[in-house]
Amino acid sequence: MSTLTIHNPANGELIIALPADDAESVAAKAAAARTAQPLWAARHLNERLACIARFRAGVVRDLEQLATTMTRETGKPIRMSRNELNGLLPRIDFFLGETPQALGAETVHDEGGMREQIQHEPLGVIANISAWNYPWFVGCNVVLPALLAGNAVLYKPSEYATLTGLEIARLLHEAGVPRDVMTVLVGGGEVGRALLEQPVDGVFFTGSYATGQRIAETVGKRFVKLQLELGGKDPTYVCEDADPQAAAESLADGAMYNTGQSCCSVERIYVHEKIHDAFVEAFVKTVRGMQRGDPMNEETYIGALTRGPQLEVLQRQVEDAVRQGAKLLAGNATPLAGPGNWFEPAVLVDVHHGMELMREESFGPVIGIQQVADDEEAIKLMNDTRYGLTAGVYTPDEARARRLLARVHAGSVYWNCCDRVSPRLPWSGVGDSGVGLTLSKYGIQAFTRPKAWHLRSPA
Ligand code: NAD
Repeated sequence: MSTLTIHNPANGELIIALPADDAESVAAKAAAARTAQPLWAARHLNERLACIARFRAGVVRDLEQLATTMTRETGKPIRMSRNELNGLLPRIDFFLGETPQALGAETVHDEGGMREQIQHEPLGVIANISAWNYPWFVGCNVVLPALLAGNAVLYKPSEYATLTGLEIARLLHEAGVPRDVMTVLVGGGEVGRALLEQPVDGVFFTGSYATGQRIAETVGKRFVKLQLELGGKDPTYVCEDADPQAAAESLADGAMYNTGQSCCSVERIYVHEKIHDAFVEAFVKTVRGMQRGDPMNEETYIGALTRGPQLEVLQRQVEDAVRQGAKLLAGNATPLAGPGNWFEPAVLVDVHHGMELMREESFGPVIGIQQVADDEEAIKLMNDTRYGLTAGVYTPDEARARRLLARVHAGSVYWNCCDRVSPRLPWSGVGDSGVGLTLSKYGIQAFTRPKAWHLRSPA
């Protein structure tokens, strides 16, 4: 049997070597899920809701241990690990409160003895292949509504967040979800590929564009539901009437939180020329004040990068930008010395769209700030991307923000805020940021098939 070794990205130390899945075990788990799913779906919704409520209690009870596990395997600063787990609780509450209504049968017509109804049936057995950067959020955005809707879940957490994936399953099993209804598959891309060989009824993927494209090619031939939540190159425009200090502090956090490894991290900033210099000064000062160090330290804001290979991407982007005339006002192109994956937060100005830094996802603590002359130039640059996850505008003028944001191609738009996800709103991307959605009532219905009922009562 093969093994998956898990290392601490902050110091390179081996945490554990786990037995990994292979094609045979994946097939056996998928078959067991197929058998178990109808019984789970036949249970009353209240029983499934009670399981998820008990799961929530388990998260609260074990929060400190879960945060430590996540920090050790991902390098996420411990305060942010706690924030993620605490932020999960209102998401669970949303699912618990919203699901009965979202899944309730709807009578859409009732006249002359003829009734028409929509009923939400579970898809069946679904595959969830996931990312590591917010493993509780991205895992639970799929797993919880899928289970509540009566599906069985084959969950392949990222190889960089497997211990967290196993904890999610442990707590669900302790809460009463049958083992074969919630199954974890351990391993990397090859286990994800083996999972896609199975006759699943839906594939829900969170990860990079490159992997998403491969998955779409594989799954596209079979007519099953496919959702892809992919990366972004999220822009923000700071207008001349914005407060440069407040905008800089907010956007520095949006760019650097979780060491820049958020799908909705601010990745490009456009600033009106009238306040550009004041904004940049405040931004650089804020970034310089961010404490980098041991992710287990309570004061740490910048932790280790989870994936070593990303260091090369960041170095390449910064070097390319500097070669083309960008000025590096904070940080460095070269990664810091190991052990572990460390990169000093980098702030670049005098950037343009000929640079990879302004076109391709950085997914790290690196940001380009570009000066613009007016709203038209800002909109043109914001839309000059193949991605479209989020975008924002900072201005005190709501009408102006609405006018601008209506013209930006993105799944979510922000006025005077950034890097924000709400369980009440749909989370989706346009263009190469993906297809489908999670969260909101639509992100619960996403795990169902709406069945049409035509019912004629006898005369
Ligand atoms: P990744 O694409 O490298 O890996 C994602 C998952 O796919 C992992 O579990 C991996 O093992 C698996 N995988 C790899 N190759 C596979 C294959 N051929 N077949 C099946 N599965 C395969 O992405 P990552 O590094 O884990 O995550 C970072 C990316 O995720 C970033 O681009 C980020 O923007 C994106 N992301 C998007 C969202 C969103 O909501 N849109 C949320 C979080 C992360």
